[in-house]
Formats: sequence, C-alpha cells, structure tokens
Amino acid sequence: MTQTGLFPEDSLRGPGGIAALQDLASRASVCERCKLCKTRTNVVFGEGYSNRPKVAFVGEAPGMHEDEQGRPFVGGGGKLLDKMITAMGFTRENIYVFNVVNCRPPNNRKPKPEELDRCKIFRLGQIRVVQPEIIVALGATAAQAITNSKKTIEDLRGRWLEWKDTSKGSSTYGLVIPVRATYHPNHLLKTPKLKNQAWKDLQIVTNWINRKKEKETT
Ligand code: URA
Repeated sequence: MTQTGLFPEDSLRGPGGIAALQDLASRASVCERCKLCKTRTNVVFGEGYSNRPKVAFVGEAPGMHEDEQGRPFVGGGGKLLDKMITAMGFTRENIYVFNVVNCRPPNNRKPKPEELDRCKIFRLGQIRVVQPEIIVALGATAAQAITNSKKTIEDLRGRWLEWKDTSKGSSTYGLVIPVRATYHPNHLLKTPKLKNQAWKDLQIVTNWINRKKEKETT
C-alpha cells in the first residue's frame, strides 16, 4: 500500500492531522483485527484530499482490483464513481474516498457484522481527521455502518442522515456531518435504470455544497 503523495499540505485538519492519518494508515496496513487479514493481498485505506474536503464518498469494501492495487474504487465500479465525481464538478484529488471495511471479503461477499465492527476504529479515525463537509454513502452497507442503522437503502435514500461522533473521550465528540445515501456504483452497473435516481441524489449533494459555499462567501 502506497500512501506517499496522497496527503496535501495542511494546517487546519482535525485532531492529530496528517500525522494521525498516516499513523492510522500504517496501523491499518498490518491490521489483524479480523479474519479478512488472512485472505487479503493489500489493505485498502482511504485516499484523496484529506483536509476538510467538500465531500467524502464511502463504499462497502475492496473488491478484487482494489485488493490487488491497494487503492479504493479502481475497478468497474470505480470507473463509474469517477464519472459521478466528475459530474459533480470534482476530481479524485479534491475529494476523499474510503470504505467501511479496509480488506476484501472472500468472493466479494458482504462484510460480516464483526468485520464491520473491527474496522470501525479506522473509519472513525478517518472521518475525525478528514472532516468532510458532507459524506455520500454508497450502498446499504456503507450507509448503515456510517449512520448506525439497519434500514434498507430505499429507506436511507432521499433524506438527510447524519454521522455523529458519540465517543465521549474524543476531542471531536459531538461533531456532526451530514450524510446522503445513494446506490452503490456496482449496483448501478447491474441495474442501470437506477442511474437516474442516483443522479438526483448527487444533485442534492452538489446543490447543498454550492449553497453552503455561497453562504460562506456572502
Ligand atoms: N466497492 C467498494 O465498496 N469499494 C471499493 O473500494 C471498490 C468496490
């Protein structure tokens, strides 16, 4: 896993800043907290702009290509995610991308509850440091893990959700980040008729970002 060059210069970011994120990435790279460490090739940590980006996208878990390359969303779903990011006016370099589980589950099965649980420190750590203005959760597994819910993607889409730091000992305790859920790019590849709805979800996010920017500059 190469992390060099992924973190731009920074002064503002969250607790511990770049050092904390690099430390987290290096701890993830040797993680043996769950059985996925036995079958993975590479740990796939988040990447992109890590100093309060306008948006962070969070997926489920690495697939075959991500496992091989040690980078998130580099397969077919990643190509579609790139198109979604471009359509919103961003690039991979100015947003952050990560997964709720850092290692590939065998045969791309869904991560098990204990795997999601064991990986929680890494996703929490990334959110605390990166502090995106808004999180887009891709698919039910990501949306459920980020918002601590058991609802279906149909129930989670189309409304405002939130990620909240509920750890009393944390210096970001109480931090709230808005979350919107949409379909996972891999699901959209299999069910293209849902692309319209996903596009509407992303437009809501883009409008929210633009309105926030306007308010901050007036
Ligand atoms: N699917 C995911 O959820 N994450 C990846 O990184 C790749 C595919």
